[in-house]
Amino acid sequence: MPHSNDQRLADFMQGLVLRNPDEPYFHQAVYEVANSILPFIADKPKYRKARILERLTEPDRIIVFRVCWEDDQGNIQTNRGFRVQHSNAIGPYKGGLRFHHDVSIGLFKFLAFEQTFKNSLTGLPMGGGKGGSNFSLQGKSDREVMRFCQSFMTELARHIGPDTDVPAGDIGVGAREVSYLFGQYKRLVNQFTGVLTGKSLEFGGSLVRTEATGYGAVYFLQDMLTVKKQGLDGRIAAVSGSGNVAQYAIEKLLHNNAKVVTASDSSGFIYDPHGFDTERLEFLKELKNVKRGRINEYAETFGCEFHPGQRPWQVPCDFALPCATQNELSAEDAKTLISNGCIAVSEGANMPTELAGIDLFHEANVMFAPSKAANAGGVAVSGLEMSQNSMRQSWERDELDQRLRKIMQKIHDKCREHGENGVTIDYVKGANIAGFIKVADAMLAYGVM
Ligand code: NDP
Repeated sequence: MPHSNDQRLADFMQGLVLRNPDEPYFHQAVYEVANSILPFIADKPKYRKARILERLTEPDRIIVFRVCWEDDQGNIQTNRGFRVQHSNAIGPYKGGLRFHHDVSIGLFKFLAFEQTFKNSLTGLPMGGGKGGSNFSLQGKSDREVMRFCQSFMTELARHIGPDTDVPAGDIGVGAREVSYLFGQYKRLVNQFTGVLTGKSLEFGGSLVRTEATGYGAVYFLQDMLTVKKQGLDGRIAAVSGSGNVAQYAIEKLLHNNAKVVTASDSSGFIYDPHGFDTERLEFLKELKNVKRGRINEYAETFGCEFHPGQRPWQVPCDFALPCATQNELSAEDAKTLISNGCIAVSEGANMPTELAGIDLFHEANVMFAPSKAANAGGVAVSGLEMSQNSMRQSWERDELDQRLRKIMQKIHDKCREHGENGVTIDYVKGANIAGFIKVADAMLAYGVM
């Protein structure tokens, strides 16, 4: 008797959990993909016989290493470095580096797995990888960050290269960190190559890379709204986070006359009923990128509410854009958003919505853009940075923004093609299937390896 989809999924997940114990983020990410892919391949023996999904849940390799550095007091500090090289089926490994106290192999496995599908969706030749360290930036001086980055790269350098693995930034790794990392790589290998993306403009960076993830998440939101003959103008958005992705999501929402009333960091969220304007957004950028301060300082400066230890989803809004971190939007939060009239969610962060929350959004017909599609703009412009580095050319801002816009629209359309089911579009299913096909077909072509 043929198995039902539910049974296939349960069997598949049972094996995965046994092989990868204590890695809940990885289980969650795989479950979401397998839930779409197992029914899709049920009548496609070429993928099933070749065990493509099973193979895709085993990273190509995982590198773990010690990172020693000296703090300003002369004490020796030891951290752990990671790089998960998930799949190079369609291009060099590509994906960010995260510096945060709370990281693990399971976290990087989830992020690298997601990255493979996301990079495939961009249409550019990039495989998937992710890495970082349990190094926390909080309380560290510039010099300490520099010494840490140099030590981290001293080991990582032997595993990466412009045609092998091209890391970028992520949480805790912005322009400053990428600069220190790139400087050390260049010094070690005595070559000036495009081994990292997100570089500064003076040494091979691309215009629009800084903006790309946040802008892209809003472009995707616009495309979803267009299908429903709706727009951003005059509507209210709740954004979480206040880092790179959040800042540029807010900026693009403002360009389109939406009113953004929240932002957050790990200490809580601010509710600003006046809404962000150019001056308030510049304040936020300065606060977070230069002063490295906390979000309550925004509330103090502009006389609005600060809610310590909470997330912004209790605030009534038309759109929610979670742009901070994984699992920051629970099923309870989803219920609150739905009952407050939220009509669309675009995920700027990676996997910010819990699985039960996604189900609730789908049941309530809330348009839901999953991270692997909605936040693919960042890696897409990273791909364009790689192209510019190889050609030793720099494209103009307008050209890059137009390319980003077009890529996001194509991703939207691919998700729609594979996710349309009668009246609604299941963008989760669409993104998973569209991302899978390209990688799977490349794997089939290579034979068994
Ligand atoms: P940043 O480090 O610039 O900003 C991260 C923001 O999230 C900060 O406001 C931070 O607050 C907050 N945050 C981090 N951890 C937590 C937590 N546990 N609880 C609450 N808030 C938290 O990172 P990015 O903006 O680059 O990345 C944000 C998300 O977007 C991540 O999920 C990342 O993987 C994803 N992403 C980023 C891309 C990029 O191009 N940068 C590309 C694609 C996805 P605090 O300062 O207090 O830590």
